[in-house]
Amino acid sequence: MSQKQIDWPYFNDNQILMISGPCSAEGPKQIDAIAQQLVALKIPILRAGVWKPRTRPGSFEGMGKVALPWLQEAQQKYGLKTAVEVATPKHVEDALNHGVDILWIGARTTANPFATQDLADALRGVDVPILVKNPTNPDTSLWLGAIERVEKAGVKRLGAVHRGVSQFKKTIFRNNPQWEMAFHLRQERPDMLMICDPSHIAGRADLVPLVAQTALELNFDGLMVETHPTPNVALSDPQQQLTLDQLAQLIDALQVKAQIANGHQIPELVALREKITQIDHNIIHLLGDRMRIIQAIAAIKKEQNISIYQEQRWQELLEQHSQNGSNEGLNINFILKLFESIHLESIDKQIGVVYGKLK
Ligand code: PEP
Ligand code: MN
Repeated sequence: MSQKQIDWPYFNDNQILMISGPCSAEGPKQIDAIAQQLVALKIPILRAGVWKPRTRPGSFEGMGKVALPWLQEAQQKYGLKTAVEVATPKHVEDALNHGVDILWIGARTTANPFATQDLADALRGVDVPILVKNPTNPDTSLWLGAIERVEKAGVKRLGAVHRGVSQFKKTIFRNNPQWEMAFHLRQERPDMLMICDPSHIAGRADLVPLVAQTALELNFDGLMVETHPTPNVALSDPQQQLTLDQLAQLIDALQVKAQIANGHQIPELVALREKITQIDHNIIHLLGDRMRIIQAIAAIKKEQNISIYQEQRWQELLEQHSQNGSNEGLNINFILKLFESIHLESIDKQIGVVYGKLK
């Protein structure tokens, strides 16, 4: 058994750690109905928001302390473990006084080092497992920083939760999955529990199963999924909570895949991977060629006193690339992102030629 499994003895037979429950605890009946379904689905941990960090004032901010006995009831009646978000030392004190088993630090709190330090200080000498969600912005250091603060306070059982990041441009997701952040964290802390919250990534119940399955494909250890007996009248996050039936369907549909180190045993896979490696080499050579041409262009622009960014040319290129991309069956957003990134690098290179290197 790995240290992770010893510290987090909640993995199911498929080696997935499942946490589920409402966005917010709303009443004893709601918690009881959810707890019964968790037991039926063999989900060992009941999550529930008690203090809700809302983006805008005026919305429901959680039932507060009165909700904690409802969770205790679920522990006693059904043998469930409970998990609650804490954002202040007082929350920590109240949650621990009511026997909450696992505390989690929410995305907005992780983004604030003062707040995470206050929480870490409140946790000193307390042996309770802690989950740390990624901050709302795509900053792995901030995420690691929060984890380290809690760890320095002596907390031994720690886990990370990926819940996506905010973005200015709207996509189909409420919070874009930034899987690289989780990969980066896993590289730094390979032994740490890493779970995914597909509910806050998706923002829509119908997208939750796909995000959840993707997380398993990316070897996350488990999932934290929001569920509610009647999501349409939920006091927070009504669109993304699964009904109790949908939760059962999700559990039923989740597929756990085998992990074969490097896939050495499958000759067709090895051959296809060699092709991919060759294509990647070609892409890099072509990018090298492109950047060398960019430098020559920059020299001409400098000499002719022409500005680096040429809006019309860029728009024409984007149109051509989108068309070619769609002829190749490629996702237009992917093509746009790829060329925006190449274009930004080209601009940096040209600035270097015209004004001298920045770095
Ligand atoms: C939550 O889990 O209910 C929550 C508020 O999540 P996050 O901190 O990821 O926004
Ligand atoms: Mn929520």
